[in-house]
Amino acid sequence: MSVAPDTTGAFAHALGAAVSRVHLPGSAGYAELTATYNLCTRLTPLAVVEAQTVHDVAAAVRVAGEHGVPVGVQSTGHGPWATMAGAVLVATRGLDGVMVDPVSRIARIGAGVRWSAVIEAAAPHGLAPLCGSSPSVGVVGLLTGGGHGPLARTYGLSADRVLSFDVVTGDGVLRRASATENPDLYWGLRGGKGTLGIVTGLELELVRQPEVYAGALWFDAPDIPAVVRTWAAWSRLLPDEGTTSVAVMRLPAMPGVPPMLAGRTTVSVRFAWTGDPVVGEELLRAIRSVAAPLVDLVALRPYAEIGLVHADPEDPMPAVETHLLLEELDADAVERLLELVGPDAVTAQLMVEVRRLGGAVTTPLRGRTVFPHRDAQWTVLAVGLGVPETADVVGADARRIVDGLAPWRRPGALPNFHAGSGPDWAREVFGQDGARRLREVSLRYDPDGVLLGSRNVRDLPVGHPTVGATDEELVLGA
Ligand SMILES: Cc1cc2nc3c(=O)[nH]c(=O)nc-3n(C[C@H](O)[C@H](O)[C@H](O)COP(=O)(O)OP(=O)(O)OC[C@H]3O[C@@H](n4cnc5c(N)ncnc54)[C@H](O)[C@@H]3O)c2cc1C
Repeated sequence: MSVAPDTTGAFAHALGAAVSRVHLPGSAGYAELTATYNLCTRLTPLAVVEAQTVHDVAAAVRVAGEHGVPVGVQSTGHGPWATMAGAVLVATRGLDGVMVDPVSRIARIGAGVRWSAVIEAAAPHGLAPLCGSSPSVGVVGLLTGGGHGPLARTYGLSADRVLSFDVVTGDGVLRRASATENPDLYWGLRGGKGTLGIVTGLELELVRQPEVYAGALWFDAPDIPAVVRTWAAWSRLLPDEGTTSVAVMRLPAMPGVPPMLAGRTTVSVRFAWTGDPVVGEELLRAIRSVAAPLVDLVALRPYAEIGLVHADPEDPMPAVETHLLLEELDADAVERLLELVGPDAVTAQLMVEVRRLGGAVTTPLRGRTVFPHRDAQWTVLAVGLGVPETADVVGADARRIVDGLAPWRRPGALPNFHAGSGPDWAREVFGQDGARRLREVSLRYDPDGVLLGSRNVRDLPVGHPTVGATDEELVLGA
């Protein structure tokens, strides 16, 4: 689709008449709703539709489609991937309803809701939503990328708990997507990163987990080699009740960073145990006994404190992220990792985290999803500061780490950790068959290519028919 050259006249008029609120560049509402959590990406859409209702979303997509203007979406701004120049941005923040039914254990959640609000609403009933590391992230943004959270090895991928989505597709129609209604959309919304529509709300199954033995241990630089070696061997044997990661950190002194961790190289072991806390504590002895921790925050806690496991920064920052999957984390890989980012390495990354995947993530709960790489066992995420003075250095340093780990690398990437667009991105993130299938479904529901979120998956060359021919097979097949 081509971008309309003039969006100030007829288009602005039609949009203003069709939706509750439109913000144009220069207004306070525009500045507020285009702000992102990652200061490296500045959004510059033509206009922002501040959706108050599902109708606003559908009307924005329809009017934009009629005028040849693409439509993007943002909720919290934790995952910006494009500037949205020449597009209309639908801001979903106003769709902020959360309702928890404690009997059915289902939460009904609007598209503008953060995980923290669902955690709060579910907690009085002893229930928990499967959020990611940061409760400040948006529910829909995380779920449409699959969602790997601190309890993932016990309960699986967060998206596997979605019972249904309400979604406005590129043709401007509001549809329900579930195992029985529009199953092709249901397949592709659970991991397809919003390529198929703008979600307006969803139904999410909650798990019964009032408390969790969870938190993080921090160790000083000299202990990093022993901690990382022990963690790698230990996490390999961890039962599925345990989810864990290890992160080598070089945190500057700034608000939110405890003084004993600021300005030094440390390592954090993150751990969440859903089973008997006594057993979790016993298992963690292997890590606690490596060295005396600087800080030990692992304890039996209400699930509402799950954000303490990763303690992600709350304030916006200019983050440059690099992510890869590893086939293996054997002893040689651990030594290479230590050479690359250990205490004696010179690196520009603030954090390099290795997550242990596997466990319940491996098995889809409600039929197949587009989420790829379920059998991957290890993922690496490096985060550096992308301010102009450091951006080149951080990028070159990230390539050094990726190259250094190349012998253990596994092709592909997880949707939530690998921003991008286009056929190469789609093949990397969704695999060849998943990308082709997404293309087919996108063409079906967005014939004119209105959704910016389709991320040019439609530019994939037409190839052989997708394996797993029917929608029903895709969704319900084993
Ligand atoms: C601090 C931090 C911690 C994180 N931890 C984890 C983690 O542990 N596990 C994990 O899996 N991911 C994690 N992520 C990645 C995160 O899940 C993605 O960046 C996610 O897209 C953010 O969603 P959002 O709505 O908050 O952000 P936004 O920037 O508002 O949205 C990001 C993208 O989500 C999609 N999206 C948002 N709303 C809609 C909608 N209504 N309809 C369709 N698509 C939509 C769009 O593609 C949009 O571009 C983390 C990110 C950050 C910044």
